[in-house]
Amino acid sequence: MAATLVFRLHDRGPELVREVLLERGWEEYDEGQREEEDWNLYWRGSAFRNSEYYNLLPWQRLNHHPKTVGITRKDCLARNLRRMRATFGSALYDFSPTAFILPNDFTRFLAEYNNLRLTGELSVYWICKPVDLSRGRGIFIFENMKDLVYDSSVIVQRYISNPLLISGYKFDLRIYVCVKSFHPLTVYIHQEGLVRFSTEKYNLSSLQNLYAHLTNTSINKFGPFYKSEKERVGQGCKWTMSKFRHFLHSQGMNELLLWQKINNIVTLTLLTIAPSVPSCPNCVELFGFDILIDVMFKPWLLEVNYSPALTLDCQADITVKKGLISDLIDLMNYTSIDSLRERAYQRQGCKPLCFHANQPTYVSIPLLSNFKEPNIQKKRRGSQSPQTQTLPLLKTLRQPDKTSQRKSRHHAFVSGCQRHLNLVDFNKIYAARGRIINSNTAAATKPHTDKNLNLILGPHSSTNMSAVNRQTCPALAPCLMGNRSLDVSELTNHDDTETETETQASAETDVSSSIPDIPQRGLRFRSSAASCKLPNIHSGRLRPVKIPLDGNTASNRQHIPPVRVGGFIRTFPFNTATLKASRHTLDVKIIIQELHKLTGQLAAGQSVKKKSRSEEEKAKKDTDGEEGFDSLFWGPKDPPLLSQCLKQV
Ligand code: ADP
Repeated sequence: MAATLVFRLHDRGPELVREVLLERGWEEYDEGQREEEDWNLYWRGSAFRNSEYYNLLPWQRLNHHPKTVGITRKDCLARNLRRMRATFGSALYDFSPTAFILPNDFTRFLAEYNNLRLTGELSVYWICKPVDLSRGRGIFIFENMKDLVYDSSVIVQRYISNPLLISGYKFDLRIYVCVKSFHPLTVYIHQEGLVRFSTEKYNLSSLQNLYAHLTNTSINKFGPFYKSEKERVGQGCKWTMSKFRHFLHSQGMNELLLWQKINNIVTLTLLTIAPSVPSCPNCVELFGFDILIDVMFKPWLLEVNYSPALTLDCQADITVKKGLISDLIDLMNYTSIDSLRERAYQRQGCKPLCFHANQPTYVSIPLLSNFKEPNIQKKRRGSQSPQTQTLPLLKTLRQPDKTSQRKSRHHAFVSGCQRHLNLVDFNKIYAARGRIINSNTAAATKPHTDKNLNLILGPHSSTNMSAVNRQTCPALAPCLMGNRSLDVSELTNHDDTETETETQASAETDVSSSIPDIPQRGLRFRSSAASCKLPNIHSGRLRPVKIPLDGNTASNRQHIPPVRVGGFIRTFPFNTATLKASRHTLDVKIIIQELHKLTGQLAAGQSVKKKSRSEEEKAKKDTDGEEGFDSLFWGPKDPPLLSQCLKQV
């Protein structure tokens, strides 16, 4: 019998996630019926607690990475981009409007304001946004300092006053970005996205008219012209990205450079936090990047949303968001490994474990806690068998008290699972989860010595780190958090409440993303969901190319993530150099150089038409130097291969 996958939604939402997963044959977690850990995916709009990362079991995934607040809160993003600008230059980090965090930066803001006035730049506008609000709440635009009034922490940002307009209406782009892993950095951008319009014509002489200056749906849906037919824009206030691409074509615009610039914005923004995000391979993150394009065709980053809205307000929402969530589930690559949950529970007889309040309980401390042990304990473990080292059962005798009952049940359950799953080598689970095969798996099943433990200490560890260990021991990874505790209360931009609030247990074989969800009976997969869609390579000069759709392994055994999963296109790593630069410690400098190079090559495209054979070969080597490693160019409707794209320019 095929195993069933179970999802758990925090606070009963979002409805779209429920709908997509139920359609795919998943079951919804029911607290009354199931054990606390009896689920494969836990989805919530807000941040998870530290303990939820620490206690993750091998078959469980969370929809958030820890500590991404550095880009999802307006003030943190401004601060981090400022830091990167100081380190890597303002020419590179020039994609976000100048911002000041008030009240702290008030003097600096005043100086800039006066400076601009003195230099005669009269028509300078500013936008003031509360740092802890979303959906356009509390935002106003001003020109004169006397109009700046605030009573909480705000950011004042230079207002992009020359936006690209469509029939006089302002718009911005909602780009969906999935970070599959921060270590190594693996980023996908979805082909579909949303274009969000304001519902009244843009007019700088009416700064108070939010329907003309803000593009939030939560605001515009209450505007008087929301339902009216608006010139080219139509009814409502949203387009799909496909429709926008069509518009660009109709205007004869060359989009390649625009898409590449947006691509760069996404990568450069993620680089600001990537080194400090703890490794947690059981997590994914779906960010919503808001991009405004100005008349010069320059894309600007407005903000990054932590929990992009998944409500369905109009047809564009339905078209874009359903596919997005389904593709996200495909990207999570649920495989036979995840059926371990069901197997564990079947062995347990699916009954809640009894807990006798008056008896002492043996509590196993699972998974992660061993990393807080003193060194002496780690050393002792060096002589144990690999299996016990990976999931040590450190038994402590404890008298239960009321508050520990839940915890005790959890631990008892986990240790029960571990006993019943004694045939399963958890290292192999992790290896397959990280989709590391061959030599890497062998490496992963080696006992962890103290040195090996050090190797997974993530980006802040001064020792060399092993990507193999980081990928293959997901449950160990949150030890990276160290003293940097996660603050659940951290406020981030999540607009998710825009309108509502038989499987084989053996994991020895490599798992590929072409394997859909485990419960394949009676499923209605989207055509793109069950297997990766073949890219529709442009006809004409370009020959169709065989590309690796599933992740593969380069000649040096480095795992290459799939180039495309449904509508998600891998945008990082995009060539051998960036793959290498993110393998161990993240080499931001190299990555930036590569982005530069690629953008430069694309920009030069128009002028350099003919290339010598040797130049062509060099370009190919640059992009797919490793056997089987090429990337798709995210952006165009039918994304071409990067190598083909560069051949063309
Ligand atoms: P929120 O989290 O409240 O949605 P945003 O930063 O996304 O805040 O701003 C809301 C809207 O205001 C954006 O969708 C955009 O239309 C407009 N906006 C924000 N910042 C700027 C800016 N610097 N220049 C021009 N328009 C902006």
